Amino acid sequence: MIQRLKKGDIDNILVMGKSGAGKQPRIDVLIAEFGLEQLSTGDIFRSYLKAFDEIGYEGNILDFYNSKTGDFISSEKIGRSLKAHLSGCKFEDVLLGLKAKYYVSNGLFVPDSVTNDLFLSSFKKSDYRGIVLDGYPRTVDQAKFLVSIAEKESRKIDAIIHVVNDDETILNRVTGRRVCPNCYKVFHMKYKPLKDGKYCTNCGTEAITRIDDTREKVLSRLKEYREKTQSAIQYLISCNIPYIPVPGNLPELTDEAVKSSVFAALENPEASIFSVETI
Ligand SMILES: [Zn+2]
Repeated sequence: MIQRLKKGDIDNILVMGKSGAGKQPRIDVLIAEFGLEQLSTGDIFRSYLKAFDEIGYEGNILDFYNSKTGDFISSEKIGRSLKAHLSGCKFEDVLLGLKAKYYVSNGLFVPDSVTNDLFLSSFKKSDYRGIVLDGYPRTVDQAKFLVSIAEKESRKIDAIIHVVNDDETILNRVTGRRVCPNCYKVFHMKYKPLKDGKYCTNCGTEAITRIDDTREKVLSRLKEYREKTQSAIQYLISCNIPYIPVPGNLPELTDEAVKSSVFAALENPEASIFSVETI
């Protein structure tokens, strides 16, 4: 039996689902209803990468990584090398930014330990509460880490809101998406067409496809979801975190329709049309 979520009682909510499932409109509803703040993996990475870039270090960051041990050199050594650049900066943030940058700028897979450290540092800044988490946790190790932090800090994870959508719908939605490079208005070849199939209806600029919106990239994100995130959700459910599926696809996608579908699921999660097996 899932307790009804009450404003003011909520510590943290997880919003999970495939990339392109339609998480953001649901997150917006939760932010407006419960006064929470969104913490997304993308924003976390951007903020720490910025913290590192701002110190203006021009040396080679590969020097801080020891390929023999497969790890970074000690924080003390890194601190000594960066000393001249650190005035007025928080070394912890710069160090995390440097580690993130090493992987991101070399196009390498970011290990869970680094993602976890970045997440922890951000979560701590909010005193571990008042957060809608988006894009984290994405693997079982990240989910275990999150649960252990919540326990240690005596904070709740009140619910997993799972935005459910099928692969075919996501593929159609994402690969049909076009964006205006001038005014950033978003279109869809079928559902929200461009002028003459090419131009922004707002400013007349020729619209483009985002680099992440290709079929290959969508398929690779869906594969990663199947292989990693699905088991992370199962793990979180096994920790007795209330699981509330909401439909990512609605007959009409108005703000009002999104809001009432989220509320209906929150009011009566057990009557949801989805079951745990279908995730
Ligand atoms: Zn435009």
